[in-house]
Amino acid sequence: MIYIVMQKLKAIIFDKDDTLMQDQVYSPAFEVKYFFEDVIPSCIKLKQNGFNLFIISNQSGISKGNFEEKTLLSNYINLNLYLTKNYNFNFDGFFYCPHLPEYYCNCRKPSKGLFERLRAMFNIDQKSTFYLGDRLSDIYFAQNCSIIPVIIHRYDYLYKDKRIYEDFSKIEMLEEEGKVLVFNSIIDFANMIVEFEKKARG
Ligand SMILES: [Zn+2]
Repeated sequence: MIYIVMQKLKAIIFDKDDTLMQDQVYSPAFEVKYFFEDVIPSCIKLKQNGFNLFIISNQSGISKGNFEEKTLLSNYINLNLYLTKNYNFNFDGFFYCPHLPEYYCNCRKPSKGLFERLRAMFNIDQKSTFYLGDRLSDIYFAQNCSIIPVIIHRYDYLYKDKRIYEDFSKIEMLEEEGKVLVFNSIIDFANMIVEFEKKARG
């Protein structure tokens, strides 16, 4: 007799640009040298504590003709090979929308199409799945997917996009209402979630 146990997975899903790495602006760049310095130690800690790591990102640079989809994908594969070789972990999946906003596709964040695709492939537990992003639309995306929104607000990072500052007062309001978690770095989030789980286990 064979028993197949479908255990629900815990997942951390990252936005790519300005969350994992500095936005290279309509570029397929996906190298460790662009990562914020807390990304690798955070990922190692989260993996050691049983979280699966995914990336969900809008990549309209493909439709704009700034770069080719296959370049982005080969950069992602090379990143994972590098991480496996040097740090003994890799990301479990990368889902992206290649479309422009005017296509009105269902895969461009904050629509939940990419999350539905992830969920069709991995049996994740939405109650213990977090989406880490840097802006208001990332909160709306997590809410649409019924997962937990987390904003990484790095004090030392000078955002190019002024809109972010206007967003931030709204983000602070949502934080006061208990609708989003805000951290200054990914490692602060990783430490919190690991401590929280330890306490929950007793
Ligand atoms: Zn799309």
